[in-house]
Amino acid sequence: NKQIVLRDYVSGFPKETDMVPSKTTLKLKVPEGSKAVVLKNLYLSCDPYMRSRMNKSDGSSYIHSFTPGSPLVGYGVSKVVDSGHPDFKNGDYVWGMTGWEDYSLIDENPDSLIKIKYTDVPLSYYTGILGMPGVTAYFGFYEICSPKKGEYVFISAASGAVGQLVGQFAKLLGCYVVGSAGSKEKVDLLKNKFGFDEAFNYKEEPDLNAALKRHVSYLYFPEGIDIYFENVGGKMLDAVLLNMRNHGRIATCGMISQYNLEKPEGVHNLFLVVTKRIRMQGFVAFDYYHMYPKFLEFTRQHILENKIVYVEDVAEGLESAPAALVGLFAGRNVGKQVVVVARE
Ligand code: NDP
Repeated sequence: NKQIVLRDYVSGFPKETDMVPSKTTLKLKVPEGSKAVVLKNLYLSCDPYMRSRMNKSDGSSYIHSFTPGSPLVGYGVSKVVDSGHPDFKNGDYVWGMTGWEDYSLIDENPDSLIKIKYTDVPLSYYTGILGMPGVTAYFGFYEICSPKKGEYVFISAASGAVGQLVGQFAKLLGCYVVGSAGSKEKVDLLKNKFGFDEAFNYKEEPDLNAALKRHVSYLYFPEGIDIYFENVGGKMLDAVLLNMRNHGRIATCGMISQYNLEKPEGVHNLFLVVTKRIRMQGFVAFDYYHMYPKFLEFTRQHILENKIVYVEDVAEGLESAPAALVGLFAGRNVGKQVVVVARE
């Protein structure tokens, strides 16, 4: 059983060498009388939050740290090869938490696995558009942003797993949508594939406030941004605050620019939340899993009707997983970063 193991806790930017290949043996049978399942892992998801699990825990995170010497754990799509659980049988496909390894014994919380009902969409979609990032985009946008038709929406890290969907949900509702991303290729995707009204490459903008004024506020958003879907934090948040409209909403989904810093950057313009009466709200995807069926029906239907598209960045083989995960923090992924361990 090949595995990818965390070498030791990480500080600063993660490196490929922080994760090392390893091998163990695993019986592909669940222990007698247990509710465990044995999974063959097919697709693994690389997600930014995994960086926080590489820190030595100081008790402040909502999720605990990985154990050095043990395989990383994350969302994945897997096939059941043995089961003592009444809800899962051999041959079922599931998505949920699994190990970064060929096969995993899930004995701690098998109830949290979600059985895959529809296989008329690519199975890898359950790491992205129909998995945790999809839930994040859907409830983050519809529940947290309180969006209305015609409103002006700005999304950072807009071409990624979550951002590309938020933009498309906002377009479906009839909003005006602008996104920022870190390369020309990503900006082209936003405008030509995901239907954003406008997009810009923030890496080519020395002054983000000026960039927002030029690309967003003055030309297209004469009165400012109604909704900011926050994926990045730091300097981008500061610049957006200057361009928010009174009574605007900020859905604080993530702040990837801060995850690898020893000392987070300060936010200088936070007082504008008061003067502009902005509602800024954080949220976490797993608070919404009880509403997964509602999200699934809506999103799957839109995929089948070609009203929503999804771009994935697929890395081949378990051994490519460390580079794929590290790549998120350099913006190397174009779309949702997935690792294929096996296709069947
Ligand atoms: P992405 O697929 O968007 O991948 C990460 C992207 O972030 C990179 O491709 C890069 O794109 C951008 N990025 C990396 N470093 C920086 C930086 N220093 N400054 C600006 N941008 C950077 O990831 P996801 O869509 O999965 O996640 C997006 C955000 O949503 C993250 O903050 C994540 O933590 C958060 N999240 C929150 C959840 C929740 O429950 N609240 C659940 C899932 C995700 P680019 O080339 O454009 O710079």
